[in-house]
This record gives sequence, C-alpha cells and structure tokens, in this order.
Amino acid sequence: MVLPKLLAALESMEGYKTSGDGRNCSIRCPFCGGSTTDTSSLSIKIDVDPKEPIWYQCFRASCGAKGVLTTSKLQEMGITGMDVLMEVGQHNHNINPSFDKPFHARSVRD
Ligand SMILES: [Zn+2]
Repeated sequence: MVLPKLLAALESMEGYKTSGDGRNCSIRCPFCGGSTTDTSSLSIKIDVDPKEPIWYQCFRASCGAKGVLTTSKLQEMGITGMDVLMEVGQHNHNINPSFDKPFHARSVRD
C-alpha cells in the first residue's frame, strides 16, 4: 500500500524518482543536501505493508542518514503539511502506539 498524501508530498521534492518496480522512491537528501552528481541519494520505501515502518536511507557515505520516517523526521525534511503528518503518524501508530504519536495539531490558545 502507498500512503497517497505522503507520495504526493515526496513527488514535489527535488530530485524525485521512482525505482523500476515502483516500491521505492528517491529524492535529493534534505539532511546532507545531496551533491552535484548525486541528486537523488535519499531512498524511501513508499510501498509498505500496513504493519511495516516506512524506511529511509541516504546512500551517500558522508551522510548516512537512515531510519524510520516519523512525523518529526518529515518535518526535518521540510514536509510540514498537516494532512501528510497525520497520515504518516496514523500509519506509524498502527504499527506500534509508542513508535510515533498520531500527529495532532496543537490548539491555538494564545
Ligand atoms: Zn544524505
């Protein structure tokens, strides 16, 4: 299964490409910035099972960013759309409630 809002957000990222089988995509790495020759070094699994974490990995040795795509990682990557964060937060929550919190917009009180 593909998380449609996440996919749409990734498609708008610089360097977006899909793998031949469409199960993974890659983008310019927001953590190291990629390089002039490697513009899509960050690989993200986009076709995941319902209980499977969304893994990401940067293939530049000098970067080495890898792990599970949580809502906080998404925001570090510059993906801050509420609908995307809620979708990924819910996916992660379904895997393990302590894994990532479902993303709730903080109510504005000030
Ligand atoms: Zn990187």
